[in-house]
Amino acid sequence: MQKQYAVIGLGRFGSSIASTLFEAGNEVLGIDINEERVEQFKDCVTHAVIADSTEEEALKAVGIRDFDTVIVAIGNDIQASILTVLVLKELGIRQVIAKALSKRHGQVLYKVGADWVVFPERDMGERIAHHLMSPNVLDFIELAKDYSIEEVKVPSSMTGKSLKELDLRAKFNLSVIAINSRGNIHISPPPDQMIEEDDVLVVIGRNEDLQRFANLQ
Ligand code: ADP
Repeated sequence: MQKQYAVIGLGRFGSSIASTLFEAGNEVLGIDINEERVEQFKDCVTHAVIADSTEEEALKAVGIRDFDTVIVAIGNDIQASILTVLVLKELGIRQVIAKALSKRHGQVLYKVGADWVVFPERDMGERIAHHLMSPNVLDFIELAKDYSIEEVKVPSSMTGKSLKELDLRAKFNLSVIAINSRGNIHISPPPDQMIEEDDVLVVIGRNEDLQRFANLQ
C-alpha cells in the first residue's frame, strides 16, 4: 500500500531515505531550505519544495499536516533540527523521526517530542566494527542489551551435518530460527535439516554465545 512521507533536509542521509521510499512506490515530499538541493533531487521524489522547516507557517503552507510520518534529516545545524522537531510535534504530526549527531543532540530531540531518534554514523560505525570482529556475521538485530538475532555464515566445519548432529542448543545455547540455503528459506528448520556449504543460519541467543559460535572456523 502506498504511504505518504515527508523528508526534511535533502543532504546525503535525507536524500537516501527519500529516494528509497520513492523508488519503493511511496509518495514522498522532499523539503530543503537550499534551492540547489531541491533542484538536484526533484526527480527522486514525488514533490520537492523549498522551505525553512523551523518556520511553522512555511511548513503549514507546504501541507505538512497531511503527513503522518515526517523524517527530519537535518544534521549539522543542530538548532534547526531541534526547532523543526518541536514545530512538527506542535502541529500534531503523529510520527517524527529525527537524525542526531551526538548523544546530547539525541536527548534533546526526544525531549522536544521526537518519536524515534536515529544515529546513523554511530550505528553504522558499530555495525562495521562488529563485522570486522566477526566476519561470519552478515547482519544482526539487537533484541535487548545481551540478546540478539544474527545471520551467520556457517563455518566450513559444520557443512554436511544435520541440525541435530550440530546440536547448537546444547553446545551454544542458541536456537536456529531459519536457514537461508542459496535463496531458499527454511523457517523453523526440522532437526534432520542438513547444513550445506554457503548456508546462512538465522540464530537467536545471548551475545556471548552468538560470538563464540560466529567465530568458529
Ligand atoms: P548530511 O550529513 O546527511 O549530508 P547535512 O546536515 O549536510 O546532512 O544536510 C542537511 C540538509 O538539511 C541540507 O541540504 C540543508 O540545506 C538542509 N537544511 C538545513 N537547515 C534547514 C532548514 N531550516 N529547513 C530545511 N532544510 C534545512
